[in-house]
Amino acid sequence: MIIPGAAGLLPDELNQYYMLSPSFRGKQIFRQIAQGKLSFAEMTDLPASMRSSLAAWPLRRASVAEKLAGEDASVKLKLRLHDGAAVEAVLLSDKEGRLTACLSSQVGCPMACAFCKTGTLGFLRNLAADEIVEQFLFLADLGAKPQNIVFMGMGEPLLNLEAIRKAVSILTHPEGLNISKRKITISTCGIVPGIMDLADNGPWLRLAVSLTSADDKTRSALMPVNQKWKLAELKKALLYYQNKTGDRISLEAAIMGGENSDIASARAMAEWIKPLKAQVNIIPWNPVPELPYKKPERQELEVFERELQRLGINIVRRARRASSVSGACGQLGDTLLHNAPDSSNTP
Ligand code: SF4
Repeated sequence: MIIPGAAGLLPDELNQYYMLSPSFRGKQIFRQIAQGKLSFAEMTDLPASMRSSLAAWPLRRASVAEKLAGEDASVKLKLRLHDGAAVEAVLLSDKEGRLTACLSSQVGCPMACAFCKTGTLGFLRNLAADEIVEQFLFLADLGAKPQNIVFMGMGEPLLNLEAIRKAVSILTHPEGLNISKRKITISTCGIVPGIMDLADNGPWLRLAVSLTSADDKTRSALMPVNQKWKLAELKKALLYYQNKTGDRISLEAAIMGGENSDIASARAMAEWIKPLKAQVNIIPWNPVPELPYKKPERQELEVFERELQRLGINIVRRARRASSVSGACGQLGDTLLHNAPDSSNTP
């Protein structure tokens, strides 16, 4: 029998798949997986007979293939998945020492944004819920449990919404990791049906959208998603989400020198944002050697930011966290997507 990875199961499902009895055992195991236990053998509050009958089942299906520690306390993990595919997860630490887990949702990405390294890799497959939760657990193993989660790693999360929903239900479960939904951000390049689905069916997470340009021609050239869902349609979906949730939306603007950094681009962006309640996160483009863009000059960036502010837009300059390990926005993908399969999950 193939059992989904244990980290992707809720307490009742653990009972069902592992045929546990009495039923409180599922909750007990769920709690210990969240605490970082790596095997059933470590769960000493389970009866010895149960531990030995479950011993052959691995609790996690992925393993750490590489760990890169950054100069700013960030850490990037490359994880090898059960079928040999690979993804990256990043632990970000801010000045106050708050930890954020940046998680991937797909192996590679089909969206091909021109400024993003992951977009050059192509797409292999969606991640399962356990493969998403395990990224968080491996990052928590590094020391402390991250308080925040951003789905901003490899892949487009709104193209894998069912697995994200399941992972969120596990990550927020009060018997387990108990992360507040308010501390989870889902970032999309602008998948309009996914935004509507999230608005109608939840979970209502903090929404971030990679805007980059408010000009259809420029945005379509940088982000192929815009050829399918133009800026007007995207804005309609964001207003719908905002009306339902009441939340402010984050608009991510990766700024590339000489591409989308001029004063006219700032004015178009300010105009487009109205009447959304939004904050613009300015991300000076993080260099990727194989891509043809350049970092914006300091003065270029300041002019852009000042113009947005003058027009009443709330902005935040995003720090270049994790860039020393190529773990910053747009830099993930320093890894082969696929090697030879190395195991199944059957003991
Ligand atoms: S920016 Fe996000 S959606 Fe675009 S290619 Fe990169 S990972 Fe995919």
